[in-house]
Amino acid sequence: MITGAAGFLGSHLSDRLLAEGHEVVGLDNFITGKPENLAHLAGNDKFQFIRHDVSDYIFVPGKVDAVMHFASPASPNPASPIGYPNLPIQTMKAGALGTHNSLGVAFANKARFMLASTSEIYGDPLEHPQKETYWGHVDPIGERSVYDEAKRFAEALTMAYHRFHGVNTCIVRIFNTYGPRMHIDDGRAVANFIQQALRGQKLTVYGDGQQTRSFCYVDDLIEGIYRLLVSDIHDPVNIGNPTEITIEQFAKEIDDLVGKKAGLVFQKKQFLAGDPLRRQPDITRAKDWLKWEPKISLHDGLGKTIPYFKDQQSIA
Ligand code: NAD
Ligand code: UDP
Repeated sequence: MITGAAGFLGSHLSDRLLAEGHEVVGLDNFITGKPENLAHLAGNDKFQFIRHDVSDYIFVPGKVDAVMHFASPASPNPASPIGYPNLPIQTMKAGALGTHNSLGVAFANKARFMLASTSEIYGDPLEHPQKETYWGHVDPIGERSVYDEAKRFAEALTMAYHRFHGVNTCIVRIFNTYGPRMHIDDGRAVANFIQQALRGQKLTVYGDGQQTRSFCYVDDLIEGIYRLLVSDIHDPVNIGNPTEITIEQFAKEIDDLVGKKAGLVFQKKQFLAGDPLRRQPDITRAKDWLKWEPKISLHDGLGKTIPYFKDQQSIA
């Protein structure tokens, strides 16, 4: 069972599990995801879709071997209708009630449970790069807190079910990921920069562009997630690409790859207070425990992502 199956990551996960020969039940209420992400699975008798809000009690017929809880708004952009600042209560409910209901399914079925957590639980980190042992630096009432604190609560609840009920849980802390089926209009850096570059518009770099991120191509991420799912690990594991890049460099790379050479424009900070200055995963655990590390370079990953944006723009 995958919650958030109609989303960017949930749809890729559904594909991967089906390719491994599993049957998949996908749940989604389409609050930020879309049916098109699953359209290619229509008619696949190993895939079942249930339109459902996971903040409400979940019933899935038949035996479930694994529950992967990926349902949650995920974009921090306040200007986007699907950004969690515009869905604050739904975000907290997906992290709190959605996690509770999903854990309930795992408990009842003696199933493996995976929580999709996030690098945001580290907040605006004071430790760099971020190891799983770092407790984070999070404002509990800031604009990002609905997401950060929901995920922190979700992690605590997951560990409570593991410790108290013996549920076979794991937690993946996902760092910025990109690739086909990501939201093209969510206002985040990858989407904005590619859209702007394709339209020949200047790429909008917020602030001085010296804040950093580490971007992971979706196929690499899904490989790490699958290895964690089939492991017997319970402690959180960072999955992301440790290659750190400034937002200015990142924008230049996209501008060059698209080839219209529109250039960059530096804008006053438009992002949420608490926009982390640096973010980079320490993936020692994933390397040691899962024998995983990302293989796809930013250049190659963007090369696979830009055509998707072109297709989507021509559909729109
Ligand atoms: P997404 O918006 O594409 O997918 C989330 C899906 O969850 C959507 O299809 C949405 O409709 C669904 N959903 C939300 N609330 C729901 C509810 N109450 N009931 C049923 N469905 C609901 O986002 P994504 O990028 O695929 O993110 C998936 C998960 O991974 C999220 O939990 C997110 O926090 C986490 N994550 C993603 C990234 C990233 O870079 N993409 C980074 C860190 C963590
Ligand atoms: N950003 C930017 N221009 C944009 C969109 C985002 O400079 O058009 C910056 C943003 O301020 C942040 C970084 O890019 O510092 C990554 O932002 P994103 O929204 O992609 O995700 P985050 O990593 O903050 O969750």
